[in-house]
Amino acid sequence: MATDVTTRDLMLDGNAVAGLLADLFGADVTVVPAKCATCGEVNAMGALHAYVRAPGSVLRCPICGAVMMRIVQTDRVTRIEMRGIAYFRFERSNG
Ligand SMILES: [Zn+2]
Repeated sequence: MATDVTTRDLMLDGNAVAGLLADLFGADVTVVPAKCATCGEVNAMGALHAYVRAPGSVLRCPICGAVMMRIVQTDRVTRIEMRGIAYFRFERSNG
């Protein structure tokens, strides 16, 4: 039985951190488009590649692999680094 753990084995999609993101943003953001600051591709947050076994969670661009978001939580603070995201695009309801 193989015991090697590859990077791909540790990869999930952005839905793996949906609950955490909902807590932070106050809404489900898995369908929110985010533009990669490195390659310019736009993907839904839920489509990003998620690595949750690191100390904290890392979301990477599914196209170029660049880190788009890092989330680290301690018992006192949540720290979010998002310099890899050029923008989020939230739809506004007109109702
Ligand atoms: Zn990219």
